Order: sequence, then structure tokens, then C-alpha cells
Amino acid sequence: VNSLGINVDIISEAQPFESQVHHLLSKQWTAGPVINGVALFDDLFQANDVHIETITAPYDRRIQVGSVAFASQAHVTAAITGAEAAFPAWQQTPVTEKAAMLEKLADLLEQHLAEFTALCHQEAGKTIHDSIDEVREAVDFCRYYAKQAQQLTPQTLTSFDGVTRTSTRQGRGVFVCISPWNFPLAIFLGQISAALVAGNTVVAKPAEQTSLIAARAVDLMAEAGFPAGVIQYLPGRGTDIGHALTSHPAIAGVAFTGSTPTAQRINITLASRTAKPVPFIAETGGQNAMIVDSTALPEQVVRDVIRSAFASAGQRCSALRVLFIQQDIAERVITLIKGAMEELNVGLPYLHQTDVGPVIDSNAKQKLLTHIEHMSQTQRKVAQLPLSRACAEGDFVPPTAFEIDDISCLTQEHFGPILHIVRFKASELAQVVERINQTGFGLTMGIHSRNETTYRWIEQHARVGNCYINRDQVGAVVGVQPFGGQGLSGTGPKAGGPHYLYRFTEQHVTEQAV
Ligand code: GLU
Repeated sequence: VNSLGINVDIISEAQPFESQVHHLLSKQWTAGPVINGVALFDDLFQANDVHIETITAPYDRRIQVGSVAFASQAHVTAAITGAEAAFPAWQQTPVTEKAAMLEKLADLLEQHLAEFTALCHQEAGKTIHDSIDEVREAVDFCRYYAKQAQQLTPQTLTSFDGVTRTSTRQGRGVFVCISPWNFPLAIFLGQISAALVAGNTVVAKPAEQTSLIAARAVDLMAEAGFPAGVIQYLPGRGTDIGHALTSHPAIAGVAFTGSTPTAQRINITLASRTAKPVPFIAETGGQNAMIVDSTALPEQVVRDVIRSAFASAGQRCSALRVLFIQQDIAERVITLIKGAMEELNVGLPYLHQTDVGPVIDSNAKQKLLTHIEHMSQTQRKVAQLPLSRACAEGDFVPPTAFEIDDISCLTQEHFGPILHIVRFKASELAQVVERINQTGFGLTMGIHSRNETTYRWIEQHARVGNCYINRDQVGAVVGVQPFGGQGLSGTGPKAGGPHYLYRFTEQHVTEQAV
């Protein structure tokens, strides 16, 4: 307690990481719209026509984590107007300065690892491993796009006719970035950092479930030197402000990561605007499969299936949903999977022994439990983990595996720790690939085979964005595995890849006659 009688938290630098995180778990956080650099939480908290959402922890709903003031349509207008006003100066800011701000942001994120880990536990229910990966990926996005931005400096194009042409790339204007709760820091900042370094100003709407994490990231952006106005932060429900954002005539593009149905709705909104056509970058869902033939190494398959299907409680759009196993080794592999599932610890995300944490909210839990219930009545249950008493107050879903005859019973993506297994005969391999393609999704695919002809054939015929052979199929690394899907799974360009920034820019070519 300081001399004014106010409680102050003193976290010494020397304190081990883990105790810093545990100390922060009891902290209360607040967030509200940040418009032109002004954080509005306190004002809005006093107003009575504003929706203040109380945030509780997914692993124990009795624990209050903080409060968020959700933005209204009036804030949408103010944010877009502010971002428009900030655009000319930002566009003129040299790309090297923008990139330096991103590098500084990356440094700050690293310094705040304990804080973001605590927030990832509290608000998103992420395990320790996933929380650290989350911050790591956010840092990677900032540093990668800062480096890629060097491609955006003017280029001289020379050709056989001796005429000099110059190509420059400029930001498009106000980009709307709508990000998901499953990567509340990494994808939130991935979209924003790309849009900003390419010369746009941004209105960012995080998923309503994870507004607090995003708000802390926005605080750090101010500290990193991003001028007020270039990033407008709008926490809010998609149903309240989503349409107002995407239908606004002044926006210059939308970057979205989330469900396929929401992407389809945004696409319709963008297409029906009479204002100028704008780019839409969408990263959406999947019905991701893994194909295992009889030459695969069973123990390796099991390790990669467990990680692909159950890590992050199955809440990755890349996660494995349908495992196709060749009949000849199916019994053996399924027995091993069952055994490995029984070793998983489902529990409180901030404990080291936890492999699988809660799902994001009661709505998600209910949908997943309904699917499990339906499948239990119609299909063969292979394994289901019992939930311990530690899970009683949270939104936990037991990791569950079913054997099914065909994927026709899967008409939508089930975004959680549920695995579906299908056996196939060697002669049916081509049909399996065709069935997977017919789903219309095309995000990730896993292949396990030690026969090169087989895995090459599958890889060439599968219409997916990211194909992983003899390894797990989640956790794409920025700059190493550019990530994104085809068909119902998204429009591209791939995040964390060399072409991503271009979509946020307009190219301008100048030719001077000799
Ligand atoms: N990039 C992540 C991965 O490779 C998935 C992103 C998402 O779920 O949206 O696992």
C-alpha cells in the first residue's frame, strides 16, 4: 500500500515467470473503445445506455476477470472518421518508420509475456503452452511483416526497351480488421500489423470473448509509437457493429478470420455496397482430414493425431476433425489412440499438468455437447474422457472420439475436442480424397504414409491450403508455413507468407518516356 493508501502491485523483474503469472491471475482488467487514442471505458461506464459486459474465466465462471464497454454504432462512425483523418499522414510516413514501430511492439510484447500469459488463461482459457505460443506468434507476425515491408519501397522496373518504370505500393485507406477469439493476440495483431505497415489505418474489432487481451495489445501499440488515430479499437458484438463496419462506404478493405458463415455474410455485405469495390481477405473454417495408409508408423500417427485433434481443445481452424485410416492398421491405431486419449489431463489451464483446457464459452460448450449427444446415439463412441471435479464450474468439453461410416453425418465444422474416425480399404483411397474435396472446405490436411508414391498422389489431388506429411497438422509457423485455405476455408493470401502484404496495398506504376 503506497503513501496515498492505494494498493499497488509490485512485480519484481527477478520474480520467476510462473509466480508473476499467478499473481496476475487475480487482477481485474477493463477495456472499452479507443478512438483517436482516447480510451473510453471510464466515460462509458458512467453512461447508462452502454452495454458493459462482465468477463468471467472460461475455466471457472465464478471468477470475474474484468469488464468491457462494448462499442455502439456511433463509435463505428467516429472510429472510421478518425481512421480516415489519420490516413494521409500515415500513408506518407516512411515504411522504415512504420516497421521500426512494429519491431518496438514486438519487444514490448516479449517484455509483457507474463501479463499476456495470465490474460490468455483468464479470458481465453488457454493452457501455459498455448499462451506462450500465442505471444510468440504475435511477436513473429510483427517482426515478419516489419521485414516484409521492405518489399513495399519503390522498385525500379527495367526492361529491354530501356525505358525506366517505377512501381510503388501504397496503403489503400481504412482497413477493417475482424479477428477471432482462438488467437486473440496473434491473429488480432497479425492482421493489424500487416494493414498498418502496408500504409493503411485500421479499425479493429476483436472477438467479443477476448476484448481484454486485444485492449492490452492496443495500449502497447501506443507505447510503441503508433500515432493516435491510426489504430481505432472497437470491442463489440458482431451482431451490433459488424454490419455497420463492413457496409460503411469509407472503408478500403476487410481482413477477417472466423467462421465460414460470417465470412459469407461479410462477402454479401461488401458485394452489395454501392461504394468502391474493396478487397476481402478471409481465413475461415475447415473440415480437416488426415489420411493414414497401412505403411504409416502407428506410434507417430497417434502422437500427431492427439496433438492435431486435441491441442488447444481442438479450437484451431487447422485442427484435425476426420481421421481416415486404412482398414489393415485401423484396429491397432484406434486402440493406441484410445490409450493415448486416456492419458490426457483435462483441467485448469494455468497448471503445468493440463493438456486440454476449457472451450471458449457456454454457447460453444452447448453446441459441442449437443453434437456429442447426437453422435453417441447414432455412431460408435471410441473414447471419451471423464471430466474431473476441477472442471465443474467451467466450460469444459470431454475429448471424445467416434467411429463413423462416412462423413455425410458431418454437415458443419465442430470447433472443439471431437475426433471422427473413418476406416477405408486400400482400393478406396481416390474416393477418400474425393470425399474430402467434396466438403468444399480446404484448409489443412495431414498424411501419414511411408510410401512416397502414395503421399505425393494424395498431396497433389487434395484441394487444401496447407498439407502436412508425416507430422501433425496444426501450428503453422509465421514466415515458414504461410497459412490459409481454399474454397469455403478462405480467400487468401496466406497469413505469414510473402504475398500477404500486397493485398493491403495499391500498386502504382510510373513510366517516363525517353
Ligand atoms: N495458424 C493456426 C495453425 O496453424 C490456426 C489459425 C486459426 O485457427 O485461425 O494452427
